[in-house]
Amino acid sequence: MELPILKFEEEIVETVRKNSVVVLIGETGSGKSTQLSQILHRHGYTKSRAIGITQPRRVAAVSVSRRVASELGVTLGEEVGYAIRFEDRTSQKTCIKYLTDGVLLRESLSDPELNHYSVIILDEAHERSLNTDILLGLMKRLIKVRPSNLKVLITSATLDGAKVSKFFSGCPVLTIPGKLFPVEILYSKGTPASYLEASIHTALDIHIREPPGDVLLFMTGQDDIDKAVKKLEERVTTMEEGSCMDAIILPLHGSLPPEMQVRVFLPAPPNCRRIIVATNIAETSLTVDGVVYVIDAGYVKQRQYNPSTGMYSLDVVKISRVQADQRSGRAGRTRPGKCFRLYPSSVYHEELLEATIPEIQRSSLAGTVLYLKSLGLADIDVLRFDFLDQPSYESLEDALKQLYLIDAIDGKGSVTDIGRMMAELPLEPSLSRTLIAANELGCLPQALTVAAMLSAENIWAQTSRKNNDKKRKPIQNLPDGSGWGDHIQLLQIYETWSQADYDPKWCIDHNLQVRGMMFAKEVRKQLSQIMQKIARGPTDVQSKYRRQNSSEDYAKLRWALCKGFANQLAQRMIHHNGYRTLSHRSQLVQVHPSSVLQPDEYGNLPDYVVYNELITTSRPFMRYVCAVKLPWIMPISEKLEKMDINLLSGGQSAKNFGSLRATSPSCNLESAQHDVTKTSDEHEKKIQAARERFLARRLKK
Ligand code: ADP
Ligand code: MG
Repeated sequence: MELPILKFEEEIVETVRKNSVVVLIGETGSGKSTQLSQILHRHGYTKSRAIGITQPRRVAAVSVSRRVASELGVTLGEEVGYAIRFEDRTSQKTCIKYLTDGVLLRESLSDPELNHYSVIILDEAHERSLNTDILLGLMKRLIKVRPSNLKVLITSATLDGAKVSKFFSGCPVLTIPGKLFPVEILYSKGTPASYLEASIHTALDIHIREPPGDVLLFMTGQDDIDKAVKKLEERVTTMEEGSCMDAIILPLHGSLPPEMQVRVFLPAPPNCRRIIVATNIAETSLTVDGVVYVIDAGYVKQRQYNPSTGMYSLDVVKISRVQADQRSGRAGRTRPGKCFRLYPSSVYHEELLEATIPEIQRSSLAGTVLYLKSLGLADIDVLRFDFLDQPSYESLEDALKQLYLIDAIDGKGSVTDIGRMMAELPLEPSLSRTLIAANELGCLPQALTVAAMLSAENIWAQTSRKNNDKKRKPIQNLPDGSGWGDHIQLLQIYETWSQADYDPKWCIDHNLQVRGMMFAKEVRKQLSQIMQKIARGPTDVQSKYRRQNSSEDYAKLRWALCKGFANQLAQRMIHHNGYRTLSHRSQLVQVHPSSVLQPDEYGNLPDYVVYNELITTSRPFMRYVCAVKLPWIMPISEKLEKMDINLLSGGQSAKNFGSLRATSPSCNLESAQHDVTKTSDEHEKKIQAARERFLARRLKK
């Protein structure tokens, strides 16, 4: 079957020839991701420069480039390659390069004009990922800088073409007519008590009653996928022989090992139905052929950041109508299909949002703001940056405050030397700052390990998942962070593994994921290379530890973490079972039950901790905490005192943003303590008063 986009090859090439920017809209599966680059390649756009195609998802970059390499009959990594964070499979020869939007942003730091490329395709723009949104703004500027030799294409399955066209001063919008077969939509009468059970039930029902054709099931995350796959397998194998055709169950999600991902693209064996259990990734990023039945429970897992509380939540939320339509569309690619929506039609029409909220309006923007400021382009002002949809002032303010507290920008909002170094690291600002501080304090090897371990999301095997609300059972013989907390534990785990010569069996024996640990090792190597490149003065990045860490080494590392996570500080509430955050409007939070932070011999937790993130699950928790000392906090509290948010937003733009509230630091250490006294008993008051006197003395010094 010829892909729809190929019928428009001439028209596409003509339009691209005449225009700098073209928006291209086409149904999922029409060939945008795999064919557009090849079309332009055939028409000479790779003669002197490369074609870059961005993907918001890592898996998509890998999977699509693999497909294109095989269509062109070349080895992946040569003419066709991909680059995702911590993994670069490109070479000198690469002229069709798939990369995540984050990687392209990073490339533009060292080469703001992106001279390596003749064409930049921002693919999957409808996903409205934070980085793609920033790239949209940058492209608008770049086509003016390189009018004669740069083409920008924006492709999308569902995007509001008119809006993007308007953003690019009325650029042409090409629409590839979808060749979708009719899809019958079947709604449930009510909403099921368990979407997981209902989905499984519906899948089995389809399998028994409906004619051949693959089933695609949308789940919200890996945990549910694993559960559903297990249950479906049990049920299918116990079915009476000959009662229906055979079935194979296939998971599909972002953290699937590559060899498992490839499986979903292989055709089903004869007389066998495939039931694919996928995350949102199968909505538009990856097209699996053969799907005739779609089961859509109407949910998606979404991470949201609240700038006023500094808190993340990972919520299962209702999808938007656009998403529901995309999902049902998956059923009609090869022949008429059916979509089973496990909710009533009234929910679709009345409760679902029209479109998904763009990520820029639900993320922390510290990394983005630092990046934009580091570009150092005179004509780019962070607060006046041309966004397709504006982020809130509150989230920009939150980002500026964080960057100031970790010394990435100065009191007037200019990027510091530290900030410039930070921008070169492919990490969150807090971790970048930690590495730079560690280099100065002489504990870089240890900090590199912690940063690498935190970057490898999946080091814990299923049964010991750190993000469970439940208390993790202590794993025998696994280091415990010596009471200092989770970062130190991560360091100790890695070091113990390195002493076991990075033996995979050691990981298995200790309930750790081999793949995650190997990834951490690779990340560590790359981070240490970058540190050697960017850090002025000597860097010590040795990976073999000559000796055991002393408590002084741990103290240095904790201090470095304190500098990096200055915006994520919390103070223990005496006589209260919890902590109060010192920035972010003083909230009451708890140490996550999975933490290894331990009380001292008197049963007290440390007075001050820094945390990796605040996350609301059943209640607000600090995840990954590390004990820090009061003297390390003093300089931070002094900065909080002096901070003027209007100045931070930078030079002249301050007056244009009078609406930025000049927050008298409600996040300040002292006022946080006043808050504490209000809720405390007499005893606590006395202790607080003593603390305040101490603080006051320190501040006067
Ligand atoms: P779009 O980007 O418009 O959604 P794609 O270019 O991703 O479409 O897909 C076009 C076709 O290529 C689809 O039929 C899809 O199944 C197939 N395809 C894409 N990636 C792969 C892959 N990794 N392996 C096999 N087939 C693939
Ligand atoms: Mg695509």
